[in-house]
Amino acid sequence: MRNIPFAKPIIGPEEKAAVAKVLEGDTLVHGPVAKEFEKKFAQYTKAPHAISVASCTAGLHLAYFYLGIKPGDEVIVPAQTHVATVHAVELCGGTPVFVDAETKTGNIDIDQIEKAITPKTKALSVVHYLGMPVDMPKVMAIAKKYNLFVVEDCALAIGTKYDGIHAGLFGDVGTFSFYPVKHITTAEGGMMILKDEAMAKKLTFQKAFGVDRTPSERVVPGVYDVIMLGFNYRMNEIEAALGIEQMKRIDGFLKTRKSNYEALEKELKNINEVQLFQSSHGPFESSYYCLSVLLKGDLGKKRTQVLTSLKELGVGSSVYYPQSIHQFSYYKNKYNYADDAFPVASTISNTSVALPVGPHLKEDDVKYVAESLKQVIHKVRKG
Ligand SMILES: *Cc1c(COP(=O)(O)O)cnc(C)c1O
Repeated sequence: MRNIPFAKPIIGPEEKAAVAKVLEGDTLVHGPVAKEFEKKFAQYTKAPHAISVASCTAGLHLAYFYLGIKPGDEVIVPAQTHVATVHAVELCGGTPVFVDAETKTGNIDIDQIEKAITPKTKALSVVHYLGMPVDMPKVMAIAKKYNLFVVEDCALAIGTKYDGIHAGLFGDVGTFSFYPVKHITTAEGGMMILKDEAMAKKLTFQKAFGVDRTPSERVVPGVYDVIMLGFNYRMNEIEAALGIEQMKRIDGFLKTRKSNYEALEKELKNINEVQLFQSSHGPFESSYYCLSVLLKGDLGKKRTQVLTSLKELGVGSSVYYPQSIHQFSYYKNKYNYADDAFPVASTISNTSVALPVGPHLKEDDVKYVAESLKQVIHKVRKG
């Protein structure tokens, strides 16, 4: 039987050699490798500034910390996302205000943003859901009208573009993830991209205790000043070395993801029992993180059976994301939203099945995934 994981990091001899080289040296943090990775990432995305961080979550937290989000402030967040998008607001004491998803892409329903804005709203965040770009010009027009800071959660958006411009460059800041299941990995790690130089400078202090000089900038060894409050949210040299090697593979990864996605889409789009999200078209260019299908009607109620049956056939699947954020216990206990407050986000959480399209799949693996889903649907419908 086949065993096709939902995602699999691709680590070759180049990554291993790069990591070994860092370990043979004597600089593990604060060194030139993280700087080099930032440079490469900025070049790739055409970002004026790139700042490496410990994770995407750390970057999102830093963004709101930089902005000074505090108790009483509100931040608009998508209801359908990874919990990190929302935790970042909570960690600063701000209040997340949820907006439902749109059915066609799973992205935030832009038409519902304005009614969620109040005089307390300070920022607006979006997630490029599964790598499909949000209509950023539309979002930025709203942000401008209400003078809101915009955070793009780009965790699944390396290669995501709108009108040729990389995701993360429309808002004030975009934050990427290099967690093992994402497009490229550094084990744990993240990157922030942004346009404003003063902001980049401040974030660089804030990610490292607010200390005013790095070890190599210290004239007198060990002596420095602390000029602001800050975290230890740095990326180390080992992670950065992985990142530099992974960047060399990114174009190939994205190409394979796209062809796997298109092949799978072709196999699945005529199945009556499932609904597919819209993918790349016109100015919208996806990064093809996975192919998620919504199970229609009664089949949706049997999603657990579909997931477990796929597993029995050796097909790894996942759910993006398993609950609309307002329904996770922490948020439910704190804010007490009605379960059906964000119906589209909940429908996606309850009835979707995310299928793999990563570069670890060969052409016949994609066929196997499609055939397996068809077989499972047939079995589960009858059962
Ligand atoms: C994975 C993910 C994150 C978290 O990334 P980390 O690097 O693990 O902190 C945040 N947002 C979204 C949309 C994600 O998919």
